Amino acid sequence: MLRLLTAAKQPVNRRGTDRPRTHRSPPMPQSRPTRSFVRPLVASLALAFAATVANAAPAADVRALAQQEQQPLLDTLRDLVQIESGSKDIDGLNQIAARVAGQLKQLGGTVDILQTTDIYRLDDTPEKIGPAVQAVFKGTGSAKIMLIAHMDTVYLKGMLKDQPFRIDGDKAYGLGIADDKQGIATIIHTVALLQKLNFKDYGTLTVLINGDEEISSPGWRSTITRLAAEQDTVFSFEGSDANGTLRLATSGIGSAYLTVHGKSSHAGARPEGGVNALYELSHQVLQMKDLSKPEQGLKLNWTVSKSGTNRNVIPAEATAQADARALKVSDFNELEQALQDKIKNRLLPESKVDVKFEVRRPPLEANDASRRVAAHGKTIYQELGMSMNVAERATGGGTDAAFAALKTKGAVVEGMGLSGFGAHSNDAEYVQINSIVPRLYLTTRMIMDLSDGKVK
Ligand SMILES: [Zn+2]
Repeated sequence: MLRLLTAAKQPVNRRGTDRPRTHRSPPMPQSRPTRSFVRPLVASLALAFAATVANAAPAADVRALAQQEQQPLLDTLRDLVQIESGSKDIDGLNQIAARVAGQLKQLGGTVDILQTTDIYRLDDTPEKIGPAVQAVFKGTGSAKIMLIAHMDTVYLKGMLKDQPFRIDGDKAYGLGIADDKQGIATIIHTVALLQKLNFKDYGTLTVLINGDEEISSPGWRSTITRLAAEQDTVFSFEGSDANGTLRLATSGIGSAYLTVHGKSSHAGARPEGGVNALYELSHQVLQMKDLSKPEQGLKLNWTVSKSGTNRNVIPAEATAQADARALKVSDFNELEQALQDKIKNRLLPESKVDVKFEVRRPPLEANDASRRVAAHGKTIYQELGMSMNVAERATGGGTDAAFAALKTKGAVVEGMGLSGFGAHSNDAEYVQINSIVPRLYLTTRMIMDLSDGKVK
C-alpha cells in the first residue's frame, strides 16, 4: 500500500514527464493591474495547450505509464493473494475488503464497504455472505462506466501456505491469483493510471468488487444488475486467455429440483394403501428427459435422485435434481415454464409434485453495444502491435458479467483481466506477467475513448 500511496501522490501530466505542473501556468504577480484580464487568458491558453497535448500523444503516455505501473500492480497482487478469502471465510473477506477499500480511497474514490440485505437463496447458499466494495469516481463528462471483479475464491482457509505468492520468470503464482485477484489489481491500477494522466473526462467510474462470485453471487447479483443498468459500459475483469480474448457471451447455469410427496405404507402387508413417490418421480424424470435443445445450447440433464427410507416401506418422498445450461436468458424462462407444465401430468393422481427452477447464473448474450466496444478494443491492441480475439460464443462457466447484462442496453465485456491459468485447481494458479502492460493500456485507453465519445 505504501508504494501505491507514494506513486499516487505524484500525478504527472499527459506528456508523462515529471515536470511540475506549475511550469504550465506560472502564477501572475499580484501587483499587475491587468491581472483580472490576464488570468482568464492564461487559464484558457493553458486549457488549449492541455487539449493539444492530450490529442497529440495520449497513447505514448499511457504506454509509458502502464509500464511504470507494472511493479505497483504486482505489489498489490502479492498483498491480495496473501489474504485468504474463500467465499465462506467472512473474516478473510472483511480483511481483503478493507484492503481494497483503503486503496480505492487513496485514489480519490467515494468508497463504501457494503453488506447485503437482498439474498437470492440457492440450495447451497451459506448463512452469511461476504461484503462488497463500491467506489465511485466522479469526472467532468457524461459516460458511465463500471469495472467489476470479485474478491472471493474457491479455496479453503489454510491452503495459502502451499501456494504463496511467488514470481518465477514471466509468471506470478498464488492462490486465487488468476481468479480473480488479478482482476481487482488491474482495476485498481487502471484507476491509478487514469489519475496519473489527470484524466477525468468520464461522468462516473464505478468500481464494484463482490465477495460471493464463486457461490453464484446470491448476495450481490441484484446489486450488480441494478448498478449495471445505469451504465453505458461494464467491464468485467475475470482472467483472459493467452491471446487476451475478450468474451461477449458466457453460458448460463441453472438447476431444477423435483420433489414428490406420496404416502407411506407397509410394502408387504398393504402396498395399495400407499402412494409410491418413487414411481411418480420416475414418471416425472422420464417425461422431462427430452427438454434439451442442443442446437441452441439448451441442456437439461437429471443427475441426482433420492427416495425411500426402508426396503419394506412404500416411499412417501422422492427428490431429483437436474443440471441446466443455456446460452439465452429466454431459454431458461421457457425451460422453467416447460417443467411447470410437465408436472401437471401425473402417473399417480394422489401424489403431490413440485418443481423449483433456480438460475444459478444467467447466460451473457452479445449485443451490438458490446460488439462495438470489443471491436474498439481490437484497434487499441493494434496500437501496441498486438492482435486480440473477441469471442461471441460461450465457451465455459458463467460469470457476474451475466448479472450485469440482465437489465442494461449498454455494453458488457468479460475477460478484461490478465492472462491467467489454473483457476479452481489445486495446482499452480498463475498470471502471465507480460500481459500486465497490454491490459493496463487496453483498459485505460478504452475508458478514455469511451469518455471522449471515440467509440463508434
Ligand atoms: Zn472468477
